[in-house]
Amino acid sequence: MSQPEPLRDVIARHGLQASKALGQNFILDRQLLAKIAAVPGDIDGQTIYEVGPGPGGLTRALLERGAQVVAVERDRRFAPALAELGDEFPGKLEFVEADALKVEASELAGRGARVVSNLPYNVGTALLLRWLTDGWPPWWASLTLMFQKEVAERIVASPESDAYGRLSILAQWRCEAKLAMRLGRSAFVPAPKVESAVVNIIPASAPDGVGSERLEQITQAAFGQRRKMLRSSLRSVPGAIEALERIGIDPKRRAETLAVADFVSLARELG
Ligand code: SAM
Repeated sequence: MSQPEPLRDVIARHGLQASKALGQNFILDRQLLAKIAAVPGDIDGQTIYEVGPGPGGLTRALLERGAQVVAVERDRRFAPALAELGDEFPGKLEFVEADALKVEASELAGRGARVVSNLPYNVGTALLLRWLTDGWPPWWASLTLMFQKEVAERIVASPESDAYGRLSILAQWRCEAKLAMRLGRSAFVPAPKVESAVVNIIPASAPDGVGSERLEQITQAAFGQRRKMLRSSLRSVPGAIEALERIGIDPKRRAETLAVADFVSLARELG
């Protein structure tokens, strides 16, 4: 196959100035894009849901791995470049012009799709929280997502670290979450102010007898005052201190010392 047109040229030919308001920081390096597209493993013949294809660099890398791509982009200026890409991979790319926060991803992509996206930073966490708290098992088979480095570190954090908190518990209590790649600022055009990282999340079976709303209530209270002892931070959750004692967790401990499994046990005990 002949080499694809450099993305820089695609952007120049279509006059695609990056919009800061829409979180547009593009990756132009095809090798790097191929590495990101490889994170979810073998995707040949599988459906990929991509938020924010922009000029289509990651989209092409996914198509080249044999995937069927449903790409949701809010900025209509990218439509002509994406239409050209669609012509190169007939029947493989579906472009949806929409705000990803306002669409039903499961309906667009179907159950079992994988999500791969260099997310706009301003909507990344909102989308992740939605996907993590949707019904279980989730509609998606995996999430491979770019975040600001600090957010990625919070998602995969272990206890006893500053990054460990509510997002870590929500991401890890019924999923395996791993940091797959780190990217410096210079990987993007224009370069953002922050460093980035790709996280890979694979769902697991949910622990029995634990409601996600209860778990969210506990983690919100516990990490809302993370420097305080649990006997103080969990006072707002009726019965939580007694439940801690019943399951053998010292209420004098602080939230960040509890393992994800401890929060799960507490949520189960509270019912
Ligand atoms: N995928 C391209 C890449 O890797 O170079 C572009 C990534 S850029 C960080 C984020 C993209 O998300 C932009 O194309 C932007 O227009 C798009 N975007 C921003 N907010 C969006 C939203 N709410 N829904 C859909 N797309 C959005």
